[in-house]
Amino acid sequence: MNNFSLLTTPWLPVRFKDGAMGKLAPVDLADENVVDIAASRADLKGAAWQFLLGLLQCSIAPKNRTRWEDVWVDGLSADTLHRALEPLEHAFQFGGETPSFMQDFEPLTGEKVSIASLLPEIPGKQAIKRNSDHFIKRGVTEYLCPHCTVLSLFSLQLISPEGGRGYRTGLRGGGPMTTLIELQEFQGNRQTPLWRKLWLNVMPQDIAEMPLPCSCDESVFPWLAKTRTSEPLTGVNTTPEEVNTLQAYWGMPRRIRLDFSSLHSGACDLCGTHSDELLREMTVKNYGVNYEGWRHPLTPYRLPLKEGIGFYSVKPQPGGLIWRDWLGLNHEGASDNNAEYPALVVKAVGAHSLKDARIGLWGFGYDFKSNKARCWYEHHLPLLLTENIIPHLRNAAQTASRNLSLLRSALKEAWFADAKGARGDFSFIDIDFWNLTQERFLTLIHDLENGWEPDDRLSKWQTDIWLFTRRYFDDHVFTNPHDGVDLKRIMMARKKYFTKSAEKQSAKAAKARKQEAAE
Ligand SMILES: [Zn+2]
Repeated sequence: MNNFSLLTTPWLPVRFKDGAMGKLAPVDLADENVVDIAASRADLKGAAWQFLLGLLQCSIAPKNRTRWEDVWVDGLSADTLHRALEPLEHAFQFGGETPSFMQDFEPLTGEKVSIASLLPEIPGKQAIKRNSDHFIKRGVTEYLCPHCTVLSLFSLQLISPEGGRGYRTGLRGGGPMTTLIELQEFQGNRQTPLWRKLWLNVMPQDIAEMPLPCSCDESVFPWLAKTRTSEPLTGVNTTPEEVNTLQAYWGMPRRIRLDFSSLHSGACDLCGTHSDELLREMTVKNYGVNYEGWRHPLTPYRLPLKEGIGFYSVKPQPGGLIWRDWLGLNHEGASDNNAEYPALVVKAVGAHSLKDARIGLWGFGYDFKSNKARCWYEHHLPLLLTENIIPHLRNAAQTASRNLSLLRSALKEAWFADAKGARGDFSFIDIDFWNLTQERFLTLIHDLENGWEPDDRLSKWQTDIWLFTRRYFDDHVFTNPHDGVDLKRIMMARKKYFTKSAEKQSAKAAKARKQEAAE
């Protein structure tokens, strides 16, 4: 297969203003008619966004905030974009000739595997051997068109989970959460050009401390030279100091060579398009680039308060993102165990004074258990711009956490004669609790932003959450009277946890009021 350019060939699936679907060449991104990415899967949509953001950040990132606002106000010039992307052209070739995007520079003598292994849900060799591919069957995805292959390959390099001995995880750890700024409305219009949506996530060079590269070489695009391999004895780690920090956008932990020599005709198993250049196999090898000490600009991080453990990236957990954690995606702060750092891109947008725009936070990622993709999560939540309400929201989150731990203990004591010895997975209580209280929390934000007196509103919050917790308890202990319910035990648990706590809470509130009056 002949190489083609990932900058000048229309290959990215997009949606136009009139609802039509088509393909976009990244050099034509300034086209105001292109409104969104239209990939066949949510994870590939995330990859396409990050592909375009990487391109913009490495080619046309404004020097400072003023230059950023110039583009925001005047629009993105098609001509300027063309010229800015020219120096990157040699790095964005895809096909049989080396260098080829996101693939090893040297021929690999490694394992030959199906191209479907680029997708995280495809059962690995182990699963097939053990015959445990119950939900996602082997052999369903076999052929990919070149366009879907590029996105799948890039996506795997971005999120790369543990892959067995020496198969490295991505630059921000396996299966990181990505948070982006979402443009919900501009000048009263909800249908906004794709470039404008992206521009909110392009950071000024000075704020990001990422100057444009002097030369577009392997320090930014690792597939342009021999891989910095990481074998136990002879290999090296790769830190931001040893290469260009912009490599964050283009990490390449996996050594992969697609097999372009045997092509097939037919329909692509992902997008359904007919192609004469369907790909089927690839060669993989372990000990690719091993990234150490990176902070990716599009991912939030945590730093454990306990000394000796470094930063780690936030990863989606079973049940998805809960609103308590969402606070740490917006603003720096601390929870019980960690200092929380939002993604650089979220911090950077706070520096702009945006008129006419309504924006939100869009978070997504896979929940992996070692190399198994358990679930894809995606959340659209408000972005907190009113900084002075953060302490109140943290306060509200603490109240909720206290009620949750109360609820857990109460339920166990009601359900089991030996509550302390009760074993099992009770995480569904937590998941339920956070999901069912989210609407209330969003209302709380809304009220505080609109000038409710914080103390009054928080005391209302305390009562609301407490009532919710007690009702949840009642709903889960009284529902099945035939199933060995011990009413006496239930009533004791109810009395112990809910009456006492009610007294405690109102006593505490009364005390606080008294103190305030005295002051
Ligand atoms: Zn396809």
